[in-house]
Amino acid sequence: MISPSPLDTILWFANIEEEIDPIDNVEALFERHKTGPEWDRLNSKDLAGYHAYMVLRDKVREWLDILIKGSTAKKKKVAREIVATIPDASKLARYIGQTGQVLEEFRLIGKPRLAIDSKGNLVISVDPIITGDHAVVLHAMLEIYINKLKIGRCPMCGKYFKRSPKFRVTCSVKCKRDRRIKKVYQSLKKWRMKQRKRLKRQGN
Ligand SMILES: [Zn+2]
Repeated sequence: MISPSPLDTILWFANIEEEIDPIDNVEALFERHKTGPEWDRLNSKDLAGYHAYMVLRDKVREWLDILIKGSTAKKKKVAREIVATIPDASKLARYIGQTGQVLEEFRLIGKPRLAIDSKGNLVISVDPIITGDHAVVLHAMLEIYINKLKIGRCPMCGKYFKRSPKFRVTCSVKCKRDRRIKKVYQSLKKWRMKQRKRLKRQGN
């Protein structure tokens, strides 16, 4: 998957606080994942309030929260929801016969690709077809499930992030450092309290 991937976009999107504003550039950032000539907007009449984007962002947050701390049953439910919604956000493809009649219709989530990997195995994969805001979100979720990625929520700043060996708990170098300082401060405070109690006891 190319970078920035749909997942990078939806993590950024989930981290927008409060109201979504046209100046947040949401539309442009979603549309950079466009793979064809068409683009389905969430709601073309909703340009002023960006309400549809806020509803979508809340849905994304709900899904991410379940992936972070939900039960296995809830995670399965999200997976089922994604599988069920993907056809609506996918393009309809038609298999046309020689005389022009439609022989078959199906929803395409991607363009199939057949290749041989470095170990000589035959692999079938798909290049995503992304033709709308909703499709970006769904493909990002697929990216998480298929690549078994771990998502986290930073305890320091509250941001959603992709967990990695370097960033397991916090989202950035700054938050990592802040958390360490906080921990040092907390243990120092504990130590002082203990000292104070001991001195008090000795004084009595
Ligand atoms: Zn953070």
